[in-house]
Amino acid sequence: MSENNTLNTITTRLADTLNNIKLLEQKHQRADNTVKLMAVSKTKPVSDIIDAYQSGHRLFGENYVQELAQKATELANYQNIEWHYIGPIQSNKTALIAQHAHWVDSLDRIKIAKRLQQHCLEMDKRLQILVQVNISQRPEKSGILLNDVEDFVKELNQFDRLQFRGLMAIPHQYSDLNQLEKEFSALNHCFLSLQAQYPQVDTLSIGMSQDIESAIKCGSTMVRVGTAIFGQREAK
Ligand SMILES: *Cc1c(COP(=O)(O)O)cnc(C)c1O
Repeated sequence: MSENNTLNTITTRLADTLNNIKLLEQKHQRADNTVKLMAVSKTKPVSDIIDAYQSGHRLFGENYVQELAQKATELANYQNIEWHYIGPIQSNKTALIAQHAHWVDSLDRIKIAKRLQQHCLEMDKRLQILVQVNISQRPEKSGILLNDVEDFVKELNQFDRLQFRGLMAIPHQYSDLNQLEKEFSALNHCFLSLQAQYPQVDTLSIGMSQDIESAIKCGSTMVRVGTAIFGQREAK
C-alpha cells in the first residue's frame, strides 16, 4: 500500500471513531463533546501518529515507557501533542515518564507519586494525573480498590507538581454487560463525588474499542481507542 492509502485509512477510521462517539453521546443523553478520544498508538510507527496528527488529532496514549520516550522525542516539533502514559509504572522508569508524558493515567502507588513529584521539581514541570482503579478487583489487574480512592487522593494532594484530574480503569473482559456497567457506574459515582470536592477533576477514562458504548453510557469523559484507529497490533 502507498503512504497515501495508509493516511486515508487512519483518517477515515479516526473520523468514524469520532462520529461513533458523537452518536453514543446522543443515544445516552450525554452533552455534545463531553467524551474525548485518546488514540492509543502503542506498537505503531511514528508515521501512523503523524497521519492522525495531520487529520487534526492531538491526544495520544502510550503504554511502554521506552516507546513513549522515543516517539515523543521524534515528534518534538509537532506542536500541542498531549502524551498520556497509560501503562504499568516501574520505579526505575519514573524519570523517563516525567520527562516525556504530560499526563500519567495509571498512577496507583504513593511511592511512585513521590518519585514523579521529585522529577517534576528537578525538571520544573507539572504532570496531570489520573488514579487507576481496579474496578473488577482481580489480583492480576493494576489499580487501587474503589474504597481506597478517597484516602489515596488525600495523600496525593501533598504533591504540588502532580495535578489530580480524575480516574482511569481497565475492566475485566466480561461477557455480561450488566456486571461491566455496574462496575463502571460505581466508578462514575466515585468520580462525581471527587469532582464535588476538587474543582480541577474533569476526567473519567473508561472505554476501549470493545466496551466503548457501556463506558459512555456510564459517564466516561475519555475513551481510549487503539485498534479501531490504527488497526490490529502485532503480538509484542
Ligand atoms: C491498548 C490499550 C487500549 C486500546 O485498546 P484497543 O483494544 O486497541 O482499542 C486502551 N487502554 C489501554 C490501557 C491499553 O493498554
